[in-house]
Amino acid sequence: RVRVLTGITTSGTPHLGNYVGAIRPAVEASRVDDVESFFFLADYHALIKVQEPARVQRSTLEIAAAWLACGLEPDKVWFYRQSDIPEIPELTWLLTCVAGKGLLNRAHAYKAAVDRNRVEQLDDDAGITAGLFMYPVLMAADILLFNAHRVPVGRDQVQHIEMARDFGQRFNHLYGEHFTLPEAAVEEHVATLPGLDGRKMSKSYDNTIPLFAPREQLKKLIFAIKTDSRAPGEKKDTQESALFQLYQAFASASEVDAMRQAYADGIAWGDAKAMVFERIDQEVAPMRERYDGLMANPAHIEALLRDGAQRLRAAHATPLLAQLREAVGLRDLS
Ligand code: ATP
Repeated sequence: RVRVLTGITTSGTPHLGNYVGAIRPAVEASRVDDVESFFFLADYHALIKVQEPARVQRSTLEIAAAWLACGLEPDKVWFYRQSDIPEIPELTWLLTCVAGKGLLNRAHAYKAAVDRNRVEQLDDDAGITAGLFMYPVLMAADILLFNAHRVPVGRDQVQHIEMARDFGQRFNHLYGEHFTLPEAAVEEHVATLPGLDGRKMSKSYDNTIPLFAPREQLKKLIFAIKTDSRAPGEKKDTQESALFQLYQAFASASEVDAMRQAYADGIAWGDAKAMVFERIDQEVAPMRERYDGLMANPAHIEALLRDGAQRLRAAHATPLLAQLREAVGLRDLS
């Protein structure tokens, strides 16, 4: 079976972008028979960006509840919290020792941070942690530990999958064929949703529309999306419209056509927003009810996660690490 791996960083409340870009397609794919799905809560990754323990903890619960509310079936897929698998940081170190530093210097997230420092005329590495620098190695461990074949990612993440291949290949070359090399699956048809400020919707930008905001709050946030100053009756541009992009991610082809026509006919922004709100709420409402139920019972979620990690360690992580420890010349722990 094809192994597909998807993680969400526990850095905040899950939002419509996470749903459209990761949760919805991953849950759909997991229903296909020849797919073995790995869904995880990337809490080690969260520490790179968030130093608020309560936020990480809360986010872990929220993202787990969101996966479940959206239809993930915990007895049919692997569902776990990254930090429940000690083999992940252990593998991270083994990979660190074969990872080229020069390659990591070129990682997008690190380069972007350096570029920001240069704009502000600071030292290149000012305020940049080794955690941010090493992030592609941790991500490679997430993937290689389970020999995942396919990792659905946005275009900006393709480079990290290439790095995982590179580290895996070097390891295989030095120590024998232990890793399957993963492929990035760029989901061309999956949209990247803009946030309230027009940048990519992202937990770290605080520009998100929470996936399970209560109905009234969802409405308020959708009405807060920036639009231009064209008056009712004036033709609206779909190309530059965050509102239109959001609608497209939820509506059927014929609904999108109708909205495009409404834009051409000069629909008032308030009316367009009301339509977008109703359409999204229609899809989200039944899941929101399940989500609220799940959030009321954190012990149930905790038990599911622990059980998932335990089974996954026994089936994959622990035996693979034993094999790798032996391959590199470390002591046998058994
Ligand atoms: P952070 O700011 O902590 O990186 P994030 O909200 O940007 O958080 P991640 O947790 O890094 O998102 O990503 C989880 C998944 O959600 C990834 O598959 C990513 O492609 C997807 N995703 C995140 N933001 C969006 C968005 N705006 N539109 C579509 N997909 C998104």
